[in-house]
Amino acid sequence: MKATGFLRLADVEVHGKRVFIRSDLNVPQDDAGAITDDTRIRASVPAIADALARGGAVMVTSHLGRPTEGTLADADSLAPVAARLGEIMGREVRLIRDWVDGGAWHSTLTAGDLVMLENCRVNRGEKKDSVELAQKMARLCDVYCNDAFGTAHRPEATTHMLARYARIACAGPLLAAELDALGRALGNPQRPLVAIVAGSKVSTKLTLLRTLGERVDTLIVGGGIANTFILAAGGRIGKSLAEPDLVGEARAIIAAFPGKVPLPVDVVCAKRFAADAPAQTKAVTDVADDDLILDIGPQSVALLEPLIANAGTIVWNGPVGVFEFDAFAAGTRAIASAIAASTGFSIAGGGDTVAAITKFGVAGRVSYISTGGGAFLEFLEGKTLPAVAVLEERAQPLPSPR
Ligand code: ADP
Ligand code: MG
Repeated sequence: MKATGFLRLADVEVHGKRVFIRSDLNVPQDDAGAITDDTRIRASVPAIADALARGGAVMVTSHLGRPTEGTLADADSLAPVAARLGEIMGREVRLIRDWVDGGAWHSTLTAGDLVMLENCRVNRGEKKDSVELAQKMARLCDVYCNDAFGTAHRPEATTHMLARYARIACAGPLLAAELDALGRALGNPQRPLVAIVAGSKVSTKLTLLRTLGERVDTLIVGGGIANTFILAAGGRIGKSLAEPDLVGEARAIIAAFPGKVPLPVDVVCAKRFAADAPAQTKAVTDVADDDLILDIGPQSVALLEPLIANAGTIVWNGPVGVFEFDAFAAGTRAIASAIAASTGFSIAGGGDTVAAITKFGVAGRVSYISTGGGAFLEFLEGKTLPAVAVLEERAQPLPSPR
């Protein structure tokens, strides 16, 4: 996918204009509603700050949780998000409810104003990508800016249809940075290109394995995914997590990319799935019927390290073991360290992968960490992201009048 054919916020004249920014402010909250991680709010600041600094009037919105369309429950309110954004930016952020049909609040906005628009998924038609809703929202603003990579794979009114009807539609810096990094990793990558696809299940990553298999020089599998591949190669995995019904698929992938899919040669096992279960390292040929494979072993790591060290580009999704348990974290830690030490361009994404990167303290040494789980995977799968496709459409010159 070509990822440069869209207009960027930085190239749009916003002075005196009302700028509608669709961010991803869907932060995790505890039971009392307190924000437990404000990474997404912080990541959204550059777009907002840029538009404000250049004299725009900014309205920013996002979805939060899974509200029912048509009703704003207290738990679904962006109020804590507005408060936190206000703290970060050192100014008040007024929160506007009922902003689609609720009067002419937008006509009083002036340069330098910043407001937050309540949870956009409360608006009827948001999830269905409604044209009518998008047209109403387009009338609220002069410029539409999508800065929400995390929802780029979902065609909804604020992520997709609004881009079609807004006077100007552009990508914010966060979305643009994601697309630039992904484009660099997959568009015309520095070779060898090494992908590490691991995690719990083949079923969630089957398309990814097939698509990446076509593009990469080495496809490293790990975690529960590797277990299914070990079965496919005729090995034994005891009671380990695997998907026997996908053994045929795994066999087909191994056959389609001969020599490109190294399998673990040794593994770390336990007799039960628990943090305190005694760990036993053994050759993959020695796995017993009552064993659970919970990590790759040191010999496997030693085989993978030079591949990662010599890679021109590395794409990583999925921990290679149950890294949440310290006794089974060594494989994932070693992979993370090898990626951090490699001079290749590295890109990583996925909820648990990012958690592992944080846990092992290598975040600063991975070239790019994607903020979008589902969107990241869909991009790697070679799918078109609707939110990006519409921005690219809008960047094309209009057909000349007849
Ligand atoms: P991501 O969120 O990065 O895409 P996944 O959700 O696919 O990754 O997989 C992450 C989970 O896979 C982790 O919780 C990890 O404990 C689990 N996992 C990894 N290896 C194994 C294994 N051998 N057996 C069981 N679970 C595993
Ligand atoms: Mg996950």
